[in-house]
Amino acid sequence: MIYFVGAGPGAKDLITVRGQELLARADVIIYAGSLVNPALLEYAGEACKIYNSAEMTHTELLDVMEQGAARGMEIVRLHTGDPCLYGAIQEQMDGLRARGIGFEICPGVSSFCGAAASLKTEYTLPGLTQSVIITRAEGRTKVPERLADLASHGASMVLFLSAGLLEQVREELLKGAYREETPCAIVYKATWEEEKIIRGTLGRLPELAEENGIDRTALVVVGDFLNGSYELSRLYAPDFSTAFRAGTKP
Ligand code: SAH
Repeated sequence: MIYFVGAGPGAKDLITVRGQELLARADVIIYAGSLVNPALLEYAGEACKIYNSAEMTHTELLDVMEQGAARGMEIVRLHTGDPCLYGAIQEQMDGLRARGIGFEICPGVSSFCGAAASLKTEYTLPGLTQSVIITRAEGRTKVPERLADLASHGASMVLFLSAGLLEQVREELLKGAYREETPCAIVYKATWEEEKIIRGTLGRLPELAEENGIDRTALVVVGDFLNGSYELSRLYAPDFSTAFRAGTKP
């Protein structure tokens, strides 16, 4: 069987229990060497064969999976964070389906959750925003949505794969609802030992990255949620009734 497994954002113990068990049982692991913390491979058994997908093509990946599956092996395709975001797993799943090979997916902790934990923040604050926009700047991969349009909502925004494109990010975001003073943070290698957090404002976003030598493996988060003026949630208000608790009269 083939399992797409989310490795989590970096720290070795932020993989799921299921993911760790699949790694321990695997005969073959194909890991995304550019981003997955190699420490996770310590969960693999002695005899496990390990491939680094950063050095492979799409067809080579599918060939390794097909050959292993044909021999009844347990194969783990290890992706950083959660496989559902920027993992290019759709084309792998479609390739496997076309070859008649079954697979399962084991989710993981996405780096945008790891970054929020490192920042000790919440993206969805009552009275401020109830939405998170996950997107990226356009580089070699086209982005069908215009960043300036997405920015028009002023929601909490998380930009993946954009640390080297921050001039463009600032320009587009300022066309939307964000201002020069809107708080932002760059989180480099969230949850890794090398983690770095840089806080500042949108007006200085590219400079913040440059001054700290960051041009990859980082998330950029932007929005007023970072400076925390919000309304208290209704859920825990004394006068708010829910299915589990009767509210008191104010
Ligand atoms: N599927 C992954 C994202 C893969 S795309 C996930 O759910 O997190 C790769 C991009 O993710 C990187 O360029 C970077 O923007 C971001 N990223 C992945 N791990 C990260 C981490 N630990 N800290 C900060 N950004 C990270």
